[in-house]
Order: sequence, then C-alpha cells, then structure tokens
Amino acid sequence: MEPQYNNKSTAVKRLMREAQELSEPTDEYSAHPLEDNLFEWHFTMRGPQSSEFEGGIYHGRILLPTQYPMKPPNIILLTPNGRWEINKKICLSISSHHPETWQPSWSIRTALLALIAFMPTSSRGSLGALEYTPEERLNLAKKSQNWICDKCGQISHLLAKNKAKPLTKEESELINNVTFKGEDTEQVSKPSDQENQEVEINNEEPVFNNILPDFFKDALCSDIGMYLIYIIIALISILVARRFYSA
Ligand SMILES: [Zn+2]
Repeated sequence: MEPQYNNKSTAVKRLMREAQELSEPTDEYSAHPLEDNLFEWHFTMRGPQSSEFEGGIYHGRILLPTQYPMKPPNIILLTPNGRWEINKKICLSISSHHPETWQPSWSIRTALLALIAFMPTSSRGSLGALEYTPEERLNLAKKSQNWICDKCGQISHLLAKNKAKPLTKEESELINNVTFKGEDTEQVSKPSDQENQEVEINNEEPVFNNILPDFFKDALCSDIGMYLIYIIIALISILVARRFYSA
C-alpha cells in the first residue's frame, strides 16, 4: 500500500521533486526512495575512474531527516568497498556529522556527487573510514559488481548508459569544498582555508557550530579526537571540582 504523506510538508514536496529529477538512472549514479518510505532512499554509484575503486559499483542507503532540506541526509554504504565501513553513517562534511556545512540548496544528487568525488581521498583515521590497500580495494571493486541488495536486487542493473547531467557551477564548488573540508587535514593552501571559513560563518546555522574551532570539528570526526575531547572535559571537571571543594 502506498503510504500517505502530508503534501504541504516542505520535506515531502522537495523529496518528491528530487525523486522525479533522479528517476532516470545515469552511468555514474542512481537513487530512488523506497516504495514504502519517502524518507529512505537507496542509491548506487560507480567507483571513480583511475582510482582503486574503478570498476566497482556500490550501493547504500540515504536517510533523510524530517527537517530535510534544512538538515543534511545521512549516508550509509552497504557494499563492502574498503574505503568506508558498511552499515555505518559516513562522516563527510556534507553529511549530518557536520551539519554546519550543509546548505538547503544542496540535494541528494549533490550528496552523491560529493561522495563519489570523496571516495579516492585519504581516510586519515576518520570515523567509519577504512585504510585498505589498493589491492584489497580493487578486489572488492570487482566483487561489488555482483552485489545484490535485498530490496533492489542486482545493483549492476541499477545504473544506465545515460551520461549524468553535467555539474553546475555551484555543484563543482561544493565538491571542491567537500574534498577540502573532509578528512584531509594536511591541506596546505591557506587562502582557500580562509574562504571556507567565511562561507561557514555566513551560514544561518546555530552560532554554536561557528564558534567550534576547526580542530574540534575535525576531532569530532575521528575516534582519537573523541577520546581527546573526553579527556579535556574530564580534566576541566576535575579542576572545577577542586576549586569548588577547596573554597
Ligand atoms: Zn537497495
């Protein structure tokens, strides 16, 4: 049975429009909402050429919050790929681990394009990221072609021959931003770092996110960073407690 949605809801209107726009699969990606849930989509993407994922076809879930597009989607990969853990939310600067960089004008297509562009970048110990060897990744890429989703079937049938729509200017900018903002903390180009800072500050997102120094934003994305933050919080608590009792 078709579920009933509130057609006045911004998220519903927007997702219905995106489902229409993405109804034709392309050779790079495809995505569709589940029949019984407009807020859960399944996607398929091709591994980028000239990378350790070339030849791979990867499938996953996109979970949309009810506040979409004000809040970003969550992306979860299902096909073993050697880049990201499966069945775990991916930490990208456009996914919900970094809501401060998400813009309502971005879409599921933008998120998928960013994910593809991001795949060959280095993991650097980020949450949910895997450091497999190129051989292991190529091996998984080969295996992925026969991967079957229990809801969608053989995933290699979910991509088509059609070329994807070329990138708009905003999309290319976003993808550059994501690749930069993501896990690669060893970027040296300072000027663009400042540009990104400005973009973030201009966002109408909660002030709290803008106050967070970049160090913490990156730290929040890695396991070691999380432990560091816990230790810092614990130390501050001990200091406050000592002051309180010695007074
Ligand atoms: Zn599926």
